[in-house]
Amino acid sequence: MAVGLPRGVLATRLDELVSWCRKNSLWPMPFATACCGIELMATGASRHDVARFGAEVFRFSPRQCDLMIVAGRVVMKMMPVLQRIWLQMPEPKWCISMGVCASTGGVFDTYSVVQGIDRFMPVDVYVPGCPPRPEQLIQSIIDLQEKIQREGTLRGREFDDPRRQEPPRALR
Ligand code: SF4
Repeated sequence: MAVGLPRGVLATRLDELVSWCRKNSLWPMPFATACCGIELMATGASRHDVARFGAEVFRFSPRQCDLMIVAGRVVMKMMPVLQRIWLQMPEPKWCISMGVCASTGGVFDTYSVVQGIDRFMPVDVYVPGCPPRPEQLIQSIIDLQEKIQREGTLRGREFDDPRRQEPPRALR
């Protein structure tokens, strides 16, 4: 005889399982534009071995990635490229802003450098430092994993009506 489970219980358990799988198999999209990129490369090398956290499969095709890592300063001319890559990544997706340049513009307080990528796209985790050490980037991945598990994904924004999502703001 089949035992019926309440739908809510099933969805909750399934959400936990899917979130656990997703958080342990993040595929990063590296967007490294400056010196922080070297630390990003070091994070993937054998000494720090980000594979221990399931995030070693760096891909250069946005359609295969679900984690954007912006490492380094982003100039205004580059922002449309970054936005396009972000839009080409399938949902659900997350973003780490690595270093003070990506997060705030850093010391480059000038008209040509974006003063924080979160003015133009969503950011989930900010990594401080100039440059941040690989351990900091690994910590940010751990923090993001906790966020993914906590928030769940099955009932998250991936099932939102795409027409209701706010498109990225265009540069003037
Ligand atoms: S935060 Fe520092 S290390 Fe990173 S891109 Fe800016 S200047 Fe370079």
